[in-house]
Amino acid sequence: MDNKTLTNYHTHTSYCDGKNTPEEIVLSAIEKGLSAIGFSGHGYTPFDLCYCMKETPSYIQEISKLKRKYGDKIEIYCGVEEDAFSPVQRENFDYIIGSSHYFNIDGQYYPIDSDYEGFKKCLEAFDNDASKLAEVYYSTFVSYITERKPDIVGHFDLITKYDEVDEQRFLNNSEYLKIAKKYLQKAAENDVIFEVNTGAISRGIRKTPYLGEELLYILKEKGSKVMLSSDSHSVDTLDFYFEEAKKLLRDVGFDHVYELHQGTFKKRLI
Ligand SMILES: [Zn+2]
Ligand SMILES: [Zn+2]
Repeated sequence: MDNKTLTNYHTHTSYCDGKNTPEEIVLSAIEKGLSAIGFSGHGYTPFDLCYCMKETPSYIQEISKLKRKYGDKIEIYCGVEEDAFSPVQRENFDYIIGSSHYFNIDGQYYPIDSDYEGFKKCLEAFDNDASKLAEVYYSTFVSYITERKPDIVGHFDLITKYDEVDEQRFLNNSEYLKIAKKYLQKAAENDVIFEVNTGAISRGIRKTPYLGEELLYILKEKGSKVMLSSDSHSVDTLDFYFEEAKKLLRDVGFDHVYELHQGTFKKRLI
């Protein structure tokens, strides 16, 4: 395995809900042989301060310092994981991951992925109808993708997070898959990169990455761009499950992923 092909641009630190400081992450990335590391602190969400960055200027400043200190050993990027409901605050970031983590129902925000109890509350808000929930989730997310065009689309099918924890509401449900595929086809009309995200696997919640295999075939058909990401919240998981995810992508027919190098997204063979 050529370690130099490793990169990860979806990384959380102690500036939001991650465990480690940016410097600890950089040192670990250098040790693992990553050629680039990108930080993606959660963008400001005024309606939910638990997960987001509250000191964004210090985050940006600290990563600038790390670029100067370690720039000869690894490429370092300062990105943000913007929520579909975050205000637009994009200046000073090298790239934007756009993700959807909430439902806004009658002005109240329900987190989708904070924990299983929270997810069940979302489901209750849709009368426990998984298809209704999926329709609202994807239509909101795809409108955001189309209007705000993030560089990278984060965990497109996040609502399937708990499908292996309890009953399978989504992945074995043909009505759900029809909805997800319809909206993914719309999302894929934008020039964005879709991440294949292994974050829930490292947390022991899932056995397969986002997006699900059936949806990856849609991206292949549409000629969409994909990238690997670990959605890492600690130094241990920077390249978690990447070899397996590459194999999955190859099985679907992809022979390359996209990586950010010298400030632009480029193809890398897998
Ligand atoms: Zn996220
Ligand atoms: Zn994330």
